[in-house]
Amino acid sequence: MMEQYLEVKKQNPGCLLFFRLGDFYEMFFDDALTASKELEITLTGRSCGQEERAPMCGVPYHAAETYIQRLIQKGYKVAICEQMEDPKLAKGIVKREITRIVTPGTNMNAESLEENKNNYICSVNRVEDVMGLAVADVTTGEFLVTELTEEEKFWDELAKYRPTELLVSEDLKNMESLDFDRIAKTYSVFVNPYPNYHYQYQRCKDRILQHFKVLSLEGLGLQEMPLGATAAGALLDYLLETQKRDLGHISKLTTYSLQQYMMLDATTRRNLELTQTLRDKGRKGSLLWVLDYTSTAMGGRLLRKWLEQPLVDKAAIEDRLDAVECFVSDPMVSEELREMLSGIYDMERLMGKISYGTANARDMLALKNSLAGLTGVKALLRALEVPHFQAMEKTFDDLADVCQLLERGIHEEPPITIREGQIIKEGYDPQVDKLRLASVDGKTWLAKLEAKEREATGIKNLRVGYNRVFGYYIEVSKGNIPLVPDRFVRKQTLTNGERYITQELKEIEDTLLGAQDKVVELEYQLFCEIRDRVNAQMTRIQKTADDIAQMDVLRSLGEAAYRNQYCKPEILHNKKGVLEIHQGRHPVVEKMLPDEAFIPNDTYLDTKDDRIAIITGPNMAGKSTYMRQVAIIQLMAQIGSFVPASSASISIADRIFTRVGASDDLAGGQSTFMVEMSEVSNILRHATSASLLILDEIGRGTSTFDGLSIAWAVAEYISDKKIIGAKTLFATHYHELTELEGQLSGVKNYCVAIKESGEDIIFLRKIQRGSGDQSYGIEVAKLAGLPGWVVKRAQEILEELLQKDVAKKASNIKAKKQVEEDPLQISLFGSGDSEKEALLEELKGLSVMEMTPLQAMQTLYDLQNKA
Ligand code: ADP
Repeated sequence: MMEQYLEVKKQNPGCLLFFRLGDFYEMFFDDALTASKELEITLTGRSCGQEERAPMCGVPYHAAETYIQRLIQKGYKVAICEQMEDPKLAKGIVKREITRIVTPGTNMNAESLEENKNNYICSVNRVEDVMGLAVADVTTGEFLVTELTEEEKFWDELAKYRPTELLVSEDLKNMESLDFDRIAKTYSVFVNPYPNYHYQYQRCKDRILQHFKVLSLEGLGLQEMPLGATAAGALLDYLLETQKRDLGHISKLTTYSLQQYMMLDATTRRNLELTQTLRDKGRKGSLLWVLDYTSTAMGGRLLRKWLEQPLVDKAAIEDRLDAVECFVSDPMVSEELREMLSGIYDMERLMGKISYGTANARDMLALKNSLAGLTGVKALLRALEVPHFQAMEKTFDDLADVCQLLERGIHEEPPITIREGQIIKEGYDPQVDKLRLASVDGKTWLAKLEAKEREATGIKNLRVGYNRVFGYYIEVSKGNIPLVPDRFVRKQTLTNGERYITQELKEIEDTLLGAQDKVVELEYQLFCEIRDRVNAQMTRIQKTADDIAQMDVLRSLGEAAYRNQYCKPEILHNKKGVLEIHQGRHPVVEKMLPDEAFIPNDTYLDTKDDRIAIITGPNMAGKSTYMRQVAIIQLMAQIGSFVPASSASISIADRIFTRVGASDDLAGGQSTFMVEMSEVSNILRHATSASLLILDEIGRGTSTFDGLSIAWAVAEYISDKKIIGAKTLFATHYHELTELEGQLSGVKNYCVAIKESGEDIIFLRKIQRGSGDQSYGIEVAKLAGLPGWVVKRAQEILEELLQKDVAKKASNIKAKKQVEEDPLQISLFGSGDSEKEALLEELKGLSVMEMTPLQAMQTLYDLQNKA
């Protein structure tokens, strides 16, 4: 047996091996050492033909799932090796096989997964500058593929999917440029290097064609994505290798391009608190929390996806907005649909289980109950008079046949296991009914027998009973034993009686147990047959599940809009460039404040005279709330949601960038200022005139003059239309920046209104034109409860500083209206300098391959002298 163990272990390197031995899964050697430590279970030993006993530990088979989950969460892979035959019947060593390998990204365990969140596994490959990315969720069958041309976008995609496992070709893993240790830490993802041959193009192509049963990559949209295809092929390889079954529920491959969506970098996703808050990573306080009125797990997951990838196509956004509108304008219909949806279980994950062959009768019942309401849903769709739902209605499949099959076949109150019978409904199969009848008859036979024997023996308390070990018996209490006739054969002795069997009872037992065994077996077969028949309808059911998820999300957005009084935004083409919001609010902050306490504010930005709003005002005045609110309104509009405002006209943005507050990158080991500057540099390199920029307190992380100078230069750079010209909200505590209005085109000053009341200040939370002339830092500090002495002394120092006029000097700087070319970015040979051009020509003319190393050295030396 140990030889068998070692052989299996050798074939599955990198996994902890759960080796089935009777009622236990055992682990040996290093696996035992690791598992006993991680799971806090006792380490024992087993003699294994060697001098020393092998370290061993084990877990009972029925409790194995929890132990497996604990190991997965700690980032291990667990291979499950089962006994493939009954040990009693086996000749020699029992046959054993790996039945599945559980890894973080391929975990099917419903209890350990969040229902409204996908569990993604990603696979990535790279050749030169192109990266292929494939993403799958084995619980739902989703499978996506794309290609990226910039490394940063890869980070952004990871931030979007937050996979639990990342499969990386070994070559890429060994490349220096991508720091996978940092990726692993930042996203707590299990990085899994996968041998290169899995990413070999021909192999991947064959694998994909075979799995999706198509003849060419073209039909899947993968023709133009060779690297995407290799990432996808390797991922399929891995899933098949670990799951060891046909993954029929992964029936559709979807390719997408990043241009289809608004670009959001990891920092912006975090800052805007789309699905979790910055502070405690919780859901409460996130935008998802405000918008989520979904009733199904599928809708919950889809809403999260929509938030993570806003659209950029005007027609697609308007299509969603119109659909949302029907629920806002008719809350009754919305409520009706909500009731229908609330009866629908997680069809996607149920189909995953069906495809895996792990769905039990309760799962089938859950599917049936979900399908039962679909005719109603279809009828309701017909009544919704917008193009989106009209189109959906035409192809909406209410799966009546599948529902009927389940309705006829599956028992209404089935047990959890499918090996005990009671899973097939009466009337579905005549044979099952007949066998069941035999067991019912058997029960009356037994009652009759009991009465007969009481009569014959005169033993009043004689009774017929059953237990699993001894089968049927006649029990007689101690006092009556002398009355027992000879035809009773003793079976078992108890403390206060004896148990017997008779010929007649034996015969009844045979028919009864025979019938029971038969019906259980037959029910199991019929059940598997029904499951297979449902499985055969996979694509139809998945399509309906998709439609349900969409309806759920659109309805949810409708309910959020209705409850919170959002308005339908007018969507403008991005060339238009206008962003106009009346009475805008921050959807999350307003929820956190008492009713009506939130003060709405207007916004007007465009790509001409109102590009950059410099916003000044004391701390706590509401600057960052205001800026985030504008960004969130822009984002909400582009997912197709109504927005918290009285009216809004919004030009589509290609990207939103945020640089907000201090975000620590402890995992990356960078200082706060470094992080701030690298974020700013990312923005300056990627923003376009169609982007929206939120810059909060740039330069805060360094000394005043450094900070002011950086902030100033950044404002000049952004305002230059030829370079960026993006719409920008720029909050700053450097009052000097207000000098830019009038000097730089497109810059306007705004401030947050403050009312002075004696020595104190009152925040009015109103954004208005102009610049506040005081920073009120000391007043705000006073509000925070700083000791009176410190406040007073600070006031004195401030006065002294103001007299010295330090600040005024800084404000005498003149703005540069045009950004000159960046000398560092001009290439050495591209500057038009004729000498350099000549050098370049000479360099180009060399036949390097024909030179000896010595000649090459000499030529290089000559060139250097000329340069
Ligand atoms: P700043 O960025 O100027 O320091 P914040 O935006 O962080 O200020 O706002 C400080 C607090 O003021 C917020 O926590 C919020 O509770 C409150 N606040 C901000 N804007 C508003 C508003 N428009 N109406 C009501 N309260 C607001």
